[in-house]
Amino acid sequence: ISVLYRAASLYRKGDVFRYYYQGPMFHRNREGVAQESSQLGVELVGSSNILSENEIISLGIRLLNEVGFYDATLKLNSYGCENCRRQFFIDVKTELKTHSDRYCPDCLQELGANPFAATHCENEHCQHSLPPLLQMSNYLCPECKARFEQIKKIQANLGNIYKVDPYLTKNFAYYNGTVFDFVVKKQDNELVVGGGGRYDYLSERLTGRKIPAIGFYLDLDLIFQLMKERNLFLMFDNDFSVYIYAQSPELEMMVLQIAQELHSQNIITVLGTEEKPEDNLKQAQAHKCDLMITLREENIREGKLLLYNLEHNEQTYIPLNRLLDAVQLVRKTLKK
Ligand SMILES: [Zn+2]
Ligand SMILES: [Zn+2]
Repeated sequence: ISVLYRAASLYRKGDVFRYYYQGPMFHRNREGVAQESSQLGVELVGSSNILSENEIISLGIRLLNEVGFYDATLKLNSYGCENCRRQFFIDVKTELKTHSDRYCPDCLQELGANPFAATHCENEHCQHSLPPLLQMSNYLCPECKARFEQIKKIQANLGNIYKVDPYLTKNFAYYNGTVFDFVVKKQDNELVVGGGGRYDYLSERLTGRKIPAIGFYLDLDLIFQLMKERNLFLMFDNDFSVYIYAQSPELEMMVLQIAQELHSQNIITVLGTEEKPEDNLKQAQAHKCDLMITLREENIREGKLLLYNLEHNEQTYIPLNRLLDAVQLVRKTLKK
């Protein structure tokens, strides 16, 4: 929403803005409990062109591929335009009124406010969702239909695997036109790890300026959890990494300085926080580090550091000012 306000303040006809954001999101769940989640979002504001739809959808798929989800697929649906959805909304209202006995009060309220919503109702006497014939896909006007066909064609040409899902739900009522979910498999389940759609009418409602837009979000909590389960974080296995820790808190600043120097050489560093040396060693092994650097008061006073080669199980003391050279040398011998 703040993206739209910003775009509206800058927008001149023909402008296209591309935004992304990442960070914690706060919301209330159905029981009213405050929750925090981590989200990444991308918004393309200012274009109603069909290419911008495909740009956004493809970017989402590409991001998922990049982190290792090569099985990421798409679910697509269209929520139509102002013209064709008008009749759909009227028919939904009629259905909810004439068959109100089929739905529980929660579902009546939810579907009345947003016919595209997924209800989480568990009431066994409730129909939960609108009848099959009452789907937006049956109401699309020729233009919306043609556009949706074209989206599918372009996505197929781009090599993105999609499935049309007329039941694809969105918990925000503001979407129109193309809507999509990014799906990743977990055993036999399909998990929605993100999604989005067009929201061409939202800007006018909020800011008074008509600006077409499309965007998506990725659920980082779920994505990181799946990455962990699939061991995708271990793709760094082949990289050289160094574990650093200090045996006294006074030396922690120095740990950070060394880490920064190593970072500047593109070396992955893991900062140890354990108290005992043996626990730090365990951590270094768990992280599959190649080297462990130990900072001890008595060594530092003599201008030395303890360097432990985990692969060859050998330790050496090296002069402080030779640290980078020594680390690079080990890296070379390990061919990493
Ligand atoms: Zn339409
Ligand atoms: Zn219900």
